[in-house]
Amino acid sequence: MQPLTLSQIRYSFINASRSESARLTPPPGFDRLDWDGLDVLGWRDPKMPLRGYLALRTTDGRLVSVLLRAPAGGARKNRAVLCELCRSVEATNDVLLWVARRAGASGRNGNTVGTLICADFACSANVRIAPPEGDMHPDPQLVVDRQIEGLIARADQFARRVSER
Ligand SMILES: [Zn+2]
Repeated sequence: MQPLTLSQIRYSFINASRSESARLTPPPGFDRLDWDGLDVLGWRDPKMPLRGYLALRTTDGRLVSVLLRAPAGGARKNRAVLCELCRSVEATNDVLLWVARRAGASGRNGNTVGTLICADFACSANVRIAPPEGDMHPDPQLVVDRQIEGLIARADQFARRVSER
């Protein structure tokens, strides 16, 4: 994805108050991120670990960021389910049920959207894991390209669900 600045991210939240977005702590190493290796930028707040953020470009080119809440009680291991963004079967990281307040009045009335997402938001790395070359996948790079497209499309759908009134 194209490099983003912190203020671009802060202004692009669709479901966070101004003070919530102002208080966010950027991901570690934010000024050295490998943007070419990212299709979405997700991270847990280093100071408020129950908070997560997902910044993405919608398919029509808008920058959208979503504030997420992790389940209280800490990280639960859960490898029985797939992350709904990367759907990686190769990855071994934990998946959490993250909850996003809906945008606008609906969110202020308490409506939320729950989605299973990698606990560490490693989705962009996960979709770059090529399957073993073989009869099933004669061209692993083609599979990776398709996985990247899938991640971008599902992140877009997720942003739409959060925006729905
Ligand atoms: Zn994922």
